Amino acid sequence: MGFDAEFSRALAGRGWVGVTLPSEYGGSNLDAFSRYVLVEELLAAGAPVAAHWIADRQSGPLILKFGTSTQRAFFLPRICRAELFFCIGMSEPGAGSDLASVSTRARPKDGGWVLNGQKIWTTNAHHCQYMIALVRSSGEREDRQAGLSQFIIDLSLPGVTVRPIRDLSGDAHFSEVFFDNVQLAGDALVGEEGSGWKQVNAELAFERSGPERIYSSIVLLELWIRLLRQNSAGQAQAAKVGRLAVHLATLRNMSITVTAKLALGESPVVEAALVKDLGTEFEQMVPQLIEASMGVEPQGELEAELHRTLAYVSQMAPSYSLRGGTREILRGMIARGLGLR
Ligand SMILES: Cc1cc2nc3c(=O)[nH]c(=O)nc-3n(C[C@H](O)[C@H](O)[C@H](O)COP(=O)(O)OP(=O)(O)OC[C@H]3O[C@@H](n4cnc5c(N)ncnc54)[C@H](O)[C@@H]3O)c2cc1C
Repeated sequence: MGFDAEFSRALAGRGWVGVTLPSEYGGSNLDAFSRYVLVEELLAAGAPVAAHWIADRQSGPLILKFGTSTQRAFFLPRICRAELFFCIGMSEPGAGSDLASVSTRARPKDGGWVLNGQKIWTTNAHHCQYMIALVRSSGEREDRQAGLSQFIIDLSLPGVTVRPIRDLSGDAHFSEVFFDNVQLAGDALVGEEGSGWKQVNAELAFERSGPERIYSSIVLLELWIRLLRQNSAGQAQAAKVGRLAVHLATLRNMSITVTAKLALGESPVVEAALVKDLGTEFEQMVPQLIEASMGVEPQGELEAELHRTLAYVSQMAPSYSLRGGTREILRGMIARGLGLR
């Protein structure tokens, strides 16, 4: 969750941002598995990756796939240099799980668009220069998926207000974003008008299946194992570590399988939902199990770092099964995919 623009630029200097983008746009032309390995190592080290995260994972590939040649030429090299950071504008106060009911609206005007409405829970909007938003460009709310489009919104435009929201931990990771008659140029539209729903769904498989959906508590787990080693922990503790390690190994295999499908250009929506649901369950189990274990079987003096990490992860953990789609919604998708409903 750490946001550090300088760190992202240093990574970019090594060619480690936008690694899957073609070299003509400043990318490293590597495959999805290379990115997987890189992301795993960054997360395991607890690196502050949030600044370039969304652009690297989602916005860059989206612009490469659906963007015009002008959009690609402008945005992709800047993403690879970690100069431009992106956020995702999907959720609204009245449209979270029911995303098709978004009511932020872009009306055509003089070859461009006028944008009005509000987004909420937008991760790092207050630190980013651009948002890719899902908004209604034609029809009415009742038309649901039809008439939705994606726009690239410059957050410095007049009429945009970004207001950070403070969370349980005292940090402000996400924001409310208000649009009041924001004048967008014609080329703010990304992809086809009316194809926003299809485009967003392709993006969600990327958002739901990566290592970040199984490793959110990994730094805590590593610290705990270090403490157990120091204290020469007994069988009972070792069994708990074994249980977590087995879960993690299985989840990693599942996540890599979804990466393979994505690399083949498939859209494994149900499989990605399964990885996210099981992955976040694991991520939430880690702090619970460690906390309970420390209470029942005290391990001597607690490392301050472990204590701090446990407190932080415990406060963050409830959000793991909300962000990127809630547990109930994912289970509904899995049930439908299995033909159970
Ligand atoms: C840390 C964090 C970061 C986020 N970052 C972003 C971001 O960058 N961009 C963005 O657009 N959004 C972001 N979100 C928003 C997130 O996608 C939404 O919170 C999520 O989709 C749920 O929407 P909601 O909060 O409106 O809850 P609601 O949709 O109101 O759901 C409330 C509860 O009702 C349940 N529920 C709703 N509908 C059904 C149903 N049909 N069947 C069964 N149960 C149901 C839900 O599972 C949930 O438990 C973020 C959220 C968090 C916590």
